[in-house]
Amino acid sequence: MKKTLFLRVFLGYAAVIFLLALAVMFFAPPQMRRHHIEERAAGLEHMALLLEGQVLPYLTGTGTGDLAGFVASVGRKTATRITVIDAAGNVLADSEKEARDMENHLYRPELQAALQGEKRMSIRQSSTLKQEMMYMSVPLEAGGKVVGALRLSFFMKDLEALLDALRGDLLKIVGLVTLFALAIAFFLSRSVSRPVREFIGASARVSSGDFEVVVSTRRSGEFRDFAHGFNAMAGKLKAMFGEIRVQNEEINGILASIREGLCVLDKDLRVVLCNASFRRIIRNDAPEGRYFWEVVRNSRLGDVVRKVRESRAEASEETPVGGRDYFCNIAYLAAGDRLVVTLHDITEFRALEKIKKDFVVNVSHELKTPLTAIKGFVETMEPKAEEENRPYLEIVRRNTDRLIAIVEDLLTLSQLEDRGMKVERTEVHVRPLAESILGLFEKRAREKGLTLTLESSPDLPSIQADPLQVEGLLLNLVDNAVKYTDKGRVTVRLGTRDGRLAIEVEDTGLGIDSVHVPHIFERFYVVDKSRSKKLGGTGLGLSIVKHIVLAHQGTVTVKSRLTEGTTVTVLLPIA
Ligand code: ADP
Repeated sequence: MKKTLFLRVFLGYAAVIFLLALAVMFFAPPQMRRHHIEERAAGLEHMALLLEGQVLPYLTGTGTGDLAGFVASVGRKTATRITVIDAAGNVLADSEKEARDMENHLYRPELQAALQGEKRMSIRQSSTLKQEMMYMSVPLEAGGKVVGALRLSFFMKDLEALLDALRGDLLKIVGLVTLFALAIAFFLSRSVSRPVREFIGASARVSSGDFEVVVSTRRSGEFRDFAHGFNAMAGKLKAMFGEIRVQNEEINGILASIREGLCVLDKDLRVVLCNASFRRIIRNDAPEGRYFWEVVRNSRLGDVVRKVRESRAEASEETPVGGRDYFCNIAYLAAGDRLVVTLHDITEFRALEKIKKDFVVNVSHELKTPLTAIKGFVETMEPKAEEENRPYLEIVRRNTDRLIAIVEDLLTLSQLEDRGMKVERTEVHVRPLAESILGLFEKRAREKGLTLTLESSPDLPSIQADPLQVEGLLLNLVDNAVKYTDKGRVTVRLGTRDGRLAIEVEDTGLGIDSVHVPHIFERFYVVDKSRSKKLGGTGLGLSIVKHIVLAHQGTVTVKSRLTEGTTVTVLLPIA
């Protein structure tokens, strides 16, 4: 049986009540008996003292009348047995028996004490009457001598009968009190357990989501405080859940309305939440509870998700899912140890990009032939032209050169992008490459009065790279250095740094203002348009450099001070 609070409290009370009742029944009757015996003994002693004066004359020989008759009549009236003995123990009179039929009483313990001058009480079996009796003996003295003894006694069975009656009464009273106490215990237990049961019911309703529950506050003491507290708590929970519901609805509304696919993964990478766009992307109406790799069958994305789960660092990946291209972002949410995956459809964007790229390539190709033709004809015309027309032809030639440079740079960039990040690597010795590039600029440097130097560490390692791309990289960097330096030096330094090959191109030229430095790798970004134009710049050179460096998993940094010079450092992995 389930031990309810009621049962526990009630049984506790009942145990205490029964223990008390038992204690009363166990200790009270012996106490009563003792008390009654003492009282009876005192009564017998008083009676003996009263009778002493009337009995003593018979022992000193001055008594007249019938002692036996006197003793018998007093004994009858007081329901007490009275025995008188002389100093030798002979029974002179007895209220219950003929004295002459009785044996010598000298050795009865209480009489022996009395004959020695002491009063004595004893309870024992009477050898004359064969019943248990209480005796009280007092000495009878005359002239300073004990001349006999007076013994008063009564049947213990009378006292026992009285005590039995008293015990019966006590039992009835204790029984009644116990019953009454049990009834009180029942009501008390119920008054404790009933509100507790009510609170349990109310909290069960709250835990099942019913916040309308209100418990009665018409109670006393702690239960009233508890009821007030409970109602306040239920009210607060109701308000909080209401807020959460509204927030949830808002979030669900937002999630449903965004076009990006979004899903939240738990620590085991199972989908716990996702929006309609995500379901549409993965063509699955109920991905909740399933593993990410089960619903998005893309091992590359699965690997990135697992990596983010381990490293807890955000990552992104472009990958096709269900026939379309997506930019996927995976973020780690520390709260709840979850991942948020968003899928942004970039199919159209990629298609547009391709159209743009194709357009640029096509236009570049289409422009290249007529531009080369123009350049050829201008060069043919130049020597034959009249003096006054020569500056115009020179302008046409310079602009044609610039256009050809732009077209070529655009084609180079398109090719780099087309190949993506893939590089066909072979062993490349950078030093001879740098020497030949510097050779190309020797004439221009001499014309400008610049010193061109190559510094290379003697044990320069070869690298695994695309030689054409490394050449293009050096070409652009040295071209810029020569282009933007009017006096001083251009130095190309080759060495190793942190286990990588370092190519440093340093000049003592114009320098770049720090506001422009972050942008110079952007396409068509030029610091000084007119100057760049004059020098045949396209604004694409450093974009090409950046592409090549990234394709080789390298880094490029620029350090520059206006009017003092620029140093571009490229670090490329060796293997
Ligand atoms: P451009 O073809 O115009 O040189 P780049 O992409 O190579 O285009 O360079 C972008 C811009 O960065 C240039 O217009 C120029 O202003 C600046 N720049 C590049 N290299 C240097 C350098 N060594 N010294 C000063 N400015 C430079």
